[in-house]
Amino acid sequence: MVQRESSKSQLVRSGSPVRTCVGCRERALAVELLRVVARAAVDGYAVVPDPQRRLAGRGAWLHPDPGCLNRAIRRRAFGAALRVSGHLDISAVAQMLEAPRDSGVNTAGESYTSKR
Ligand SMILES: [Zn+2]
Repeated sequence: MVQRESSKSQLVRSGSPVRTCVGCRERALAVELLRVVARAAVDGYAVVPDPQRRLAGRGAWLHPDPGCLNRAIRRRAFGAALRVSGHLDISAVAQMLEAPRDSGVNTAGESYTSKR
Protein backbone atom coordinates (compact mmCIF):
# COMPACT_ATOMS: atom_id res chain seq x y z
CA MET A 1 0.00 0.00 0.00
CA VAL A 2 1.40 3.31 -1.00
CA GLN A 3 0.85 6.16 1.28
CA ARG A 4 0.50 9.43 -0.49
CA GLU A 5 0.95 12.30 1.82
CA SER A 6 -0.42 15.17 -0.11
CA SER A 7 1.82 17.46 1.79
CA LYS A 8 -0.39 20.21 2.90
CA SER A 9 2.22 21.59 5.18
CA GLN A 10 3.77 24.02 2.84
CA LEU A 11 5.03 26.11 5.65
CA VAL A 12 8.48 27.03 4.52
CA ARG A 13 10.55 28.00 7.47
CA SER A 14 12.92 30.22 5.66
CA GLY A 15 11.26 32.83 3.59
CA SER A 16 7.92 32.67 5.29
CA PRO A 17 6.26 36.00 4.84
CA VAL A 18 6.27 38.10 7.95
CA ARG A 19 3.80 40.87 8.53
CA THR A 20 3.27 43.44 11.22
CA CYS A 21 0.04 43.46 13.17
CA VAL A 22 -1.59 46.85 12.92
CA GLY A 23 -2.90 46.44 16.45
CA CYS A 24 0.06 45.55 18.62
CA ARG A 25 2.74 46.31 16.02
CA GLU A 26 4.35 42.96 16.58
CA ARG A 27 5.70 41.00 13.70
CA ALA A 28 4.28 37.59 13.05
CA LEU A 29 4.06 35.06 10.29
CA ALA A 30 1.46 36.00 7.76
CA VAL A 31 -0.29 32.69 8.34
CA GLU A 32 -0.93 33.72 11.92
CA LEU A 33 -2.48 37.01 10.99
CA LEU A 34 -5.75 37.99 9.43
CA ARG A 35 -5.57 40.03 6.29
CA VAL A 36 -8.06 42.82 5.89
CA VAL A 37 -8.67 45.13 2.99
CA ALA A 38 -10.57 48.34 2.54
CA ARG A 39 -13.56 48.51 0.29
CA ALA A 40 -15.27 51.65 -0.79
CA ALA A 41 -18.56 52.04 0.96
CA VAL A 42 -21.33 54.57 0.83
CA ASP A 43 -20.00 56.81 3.56
CA GLY A 44 -16.33 56.01 3.46
CA TYR A 45 -14.70 52.64 3.57
CA ALA A 46 -15.48 49.27 4.97
CA VAL A 47 -12.69 47.16 6.33
CA VAL A 48 -13.44 43.59 5.46
CA PRO A 49 -11.61 40.43 6.49
CA ASP A 50 -9.86 38.52 3.78
CA PRO A 51 -9.00 35.13 5.28
CA GLN A 52 -8.38 33.66 1.85
CA ARG A 53 -6.09 36.53 0.96
CA ARG A 54 -7.62 36.82 -2.43
CA LEU A 55 -9.01 40.28 -2.41
CA ALA A 56 -7.19 42.82 -4.45
CA GLY A 57 -5.86 46.01 -3.09
CA ARG A 58 -3.77 47.09 -0.24
CA GLY A 59 -4.08 44.88 2.78
CA ALA A 60 -3.42 45.27 6.44
CA TRP A 61 -2.60 42.51 8.84
CA LEU A 62 -4.00 41.88 12.23
CA HIS A 63 -3.82 39.25 14.91
CA PRO A 64 -7.18 37.47 15.08
CA ASP A 65 -7.60 39.00 18.48
CA PRO A 66 -10.23 41.50 19.60
CA GLY A 67 -7.57 43.21 21.67
CA CYS A 68 -5.43 43.89 18.64
CA LEU A 69 -8.49 45.04 16.76
CA ASN A 70 -9.35 47.52 19.49
CA ARG A 71 -5.85 48.86 19.54
CA ALA A 72 -5.84 49.26 15.80
CA ILE A 73 -9.11 51.13 15.97
CA ARG A 74 -7.97 53.40 18.74
CA ARG A 75 -4.85 54.49 17.00
CA ARG A 76 -6.57 54.56 13.62
CA ALA A 77 -4.06 52.15 12.26
CA PHE A 78 -6.36 50.83 9.59
CA GLY A 79 -6.57 54.10 7.78
CA ALA A 80 -2.84 54.46 7.84
CA ALA A 81 -2.12 50.90 6.82
CA LEU A 82 -4.75 50.79 4.11
CA ARG A 83 -4.07 54.31 2.90
CA VAL A 84 -7.63 55.42 3.17
CA SER A 85 -9.19 58.29 5.02
CA GLY A 86 -12.65 59.12 6.15
CA HIS A 87 -15.08 56.92 7.95
CA LEU A 88 -13.96 53.33 8.37
CA ASP A 89 -16.49 50.67 9.08
CA ILE A 90 -14.77 47.81 10.85
CA SER A 91 -17.90 45.98 11.92
CA ALA A 92 -17.22 43.09 9.58
CA VAL A 93 -13.85 42.46 11.15
CA ALA A 94 -15.17 43.00 14.65
CA GLN A 95 -17.89 40.48 14.01
CA MET A 96 -15.39 37.94 12.84
CA LEU A 97 -13.19 38.38 15.85
CA GLU A 98 -15.80 38.78 18.49
CA ALA A 99 -15.15 36.39 21.29
CA PRO A 100 -16.38 35.94 24.79
CA ARG A 101 -14.17 38.08 26.93
CA ASP A 102 -14.87 36.78 30.38
CA SER A 103 -14.89 33.10 29.72
CA GLY A 104 -11.24 32.78 30.54
CA VAL A 105 -10.80 30.65 27.46
CA ASN A 106 -9.22 32.04 24.39
CA THR A 107 -11.48 31.07 21.56
CA ALA A 108 -10.65 34.03 19.41
CA GLY A 109 -9.42 31.90 16.57
CA GLU A 110 -12.13 29.31 16.58
CA SER A 111 -14.52 30.85 14.13
CA TYR A 112 -12.09 31.45 11.35
CA THR A 113 -9.15 29.11 11.81
CA SER A 114 -10.88 26.33 9.98
CA LYS A 115 -8.53 26.80 7.07
CA ARG A 116 -5.16 26.91 8.66
ZN1 LIG B 1 -1.49 42.02 17.29
